[in-house]
Amino acid sequence: MLPLVREDINGIDCWRVAFLEEQAPVRAYFSGRAGGKSRPPYDTLNLGLHAGDAADIVLANRQELAAALGLPLTGWIIGAQVHGNQVALVGRRDAGRGAMELTTALPGVDAMVTGSGGLTLVAFYADCVPLYLVDPARGVAGLAHAGWRGTVLRVASQVVARMVTEFNSSPAGILACIGPAIGPCCYQVDERVAAAVRQHLPWADDVLLPDGPGHYRLDLPQSNRRDLQAAGLQPEYIALAGICTCCRADTFFSYRAAGGPTGRQAALLTITG
Ligand SMILES: [Zn+2]
Repeated sequence: MLPLVREDINGIDCWRVAFLEEQAPVRAYFSGRAGGKSRPPYDTLNLGLHAGDAADIVLANRQELAAALGLPLTGWIIGAQVHGNQVALVGRRDAGRGAMELTTALPGVDAMVTGSGGLTLVAFYADCVPLYLVDPARGVAGLAHAGWRGTVLRVASQVVARMVTEFNSSPAGILACIGPAIGPCCYQVDERVAAAVRQHLPWADDVLLPDGPGHYRLDLPQSNRRDLQAAGLQPEYIALAGICTCCRADTFFSYRAAGGPTGRQAALLTITG
């Protein structure tokens, strides 16, 4: 089984996270670039209000995606991402936060967990790593945004820890999918980033690949996989999309490939049960 399956939903390019949907009562998606209304450099399905695009066009794009997936904006919950590791516990009273404007997004939040059905956790990406977590036994879902800073701050294991403390989840029973993100093929980093990785991650040597003097290629998806395993997830319960957003900048927004302003795609995760 492929972890993600590409689908055209009413002209909108979407990737269904089949690995999770087939094993748990959830709906999980990652959006692509095609099918929206934004103009260059945000062309076309830009879903981020924080990237410089016109707000009315972004909201139209969101509305179109929400309608296509049948996941209404009134149930979306969005964090104002800061590349941190804060995990918010969200519920029905948070429904709609950040969906229509930046000001109501959960401040300083890159990760959320919920035990409530019918809400849609949403986060935005242009190379950073989407992390989807689901505990089918407890009916709990978690979603995180991990760039290099979030990866170094181990936001992945922070989400697992929050699922354990709030819902008594067993890490060995949690399913995870690591979505499309910039791969080691394209993600060159400098000594400053490498030093942070070495300082914080015991598996640094396995995810930092030498790439000339003072430069490395960092494998963010693999590092997050290691973090999830360190948090107690079983290796066979972790799926990697294995899709590089920078290699496939025709299909996804990639900050590195764009070399300047670009749009954002979204990860969406809903408990249906
Ligand atoms: Zn690549």
